[in-house]
Amino acid sequence: PHQLEIRNLHASVGDQPILKGVNLVVPRGELHAIMGPNGNGKSTLAKVIVGDPEYTVTEGEVLVDGQNILEMEPDERARLGVFLAFQYPVEIPGVTIANFLRLAMQARKEEGEEVGFAEFYGKLTSALKTLEWDESIVERYLNEGFSGGEKKRNEILQMLMLEPNYIIMDETDSGLDVDALKIVAKGVNSLRGPNLGGLIITHYQRLLNYIVPDKVHIIVDGRVVQTGGPELAQRLDAEGYDWVKQLAVAGD
Ligand code: ADP
Ligand code: MG
Ligand code: MG
Repeated sequence: PHQLEIRNLHASVGDQPILKGVNLVVPRGELHAIMGPNGNGKSTLAKVIVGDPEYTVTEGEVLVDGQNILEMEPDERARLGVFLAFQYPVEIPGVTIANFLRLAMQARKEEGEEVGFAEFYGKLTSALKTLEWDESIVERYLNEGFSGGEKKRNEILQMLMLEPNYIIMDETDSGLDVDALKIVAKGVNSLRGPNLGGLIITHYQRLLNYIVPDKVHIIVDGRVVQTGGPELAQRLDAEGYDWVKQLAVAGD
């Protein structure tokens, strides 16, 4: 099956359990939002999916197109097409955006396969156009001196270049003004289609006005406590999170 499936996922930091049995299925072709109050495991879920060594999986599986990825190194996961846009993007001194993109694309290829210049340049030109970004940006050093908005736009540029099968976006909207938000959404929406699945993690409903999710899941205390359509995000926006916290207590 072409889907991202999370099955009874439990994960800890040290001996503190954070995820306590997450179950989710995201078919390729669908984007699902993950919402929830702060400190309830949303970022932990993203990091476990991409293989952050700080988190220990104590139970459960993460299946990408039927393959359990939990034993795979992060670069193998990337080769399966799993892409994480970080909440706090890294700076890599001395590496230009162009170099970085080239390396990242190369990392997704099988051994012996090269990223051709025409392929690289063609994709780059079209991605920059979608993001309304000048070509000169790619000679700048990765994230060095970038504004919050530029960092986010750069994440989306990476995403457009890599054409992932599954994206995990963690709080990509935090700190963005409406114009930057619209450009980010335009980039993501340009990739939407039968080949793209993923999770859009966000505390606020705002981003979901521009990237309308197929489903919305709410995580409280390390579990999915409610699943619905986009109207669920609207309800959270209007009513806050108190009512979902009570669902978590009722489920214990
Ligand atoms: P959210 O993204 O929903 O705000 P997180 O997944 O970041 O929540 O965090 C869930 C809980 O796990 C919080 O109590 C947080 O303090 C704790 N936690 C997450 N990562 C770490 C870490 N690396 N070290 C210690 N505690 C962590
Ligand atoms: Mg948080
Ligand atoms: Mg978080």
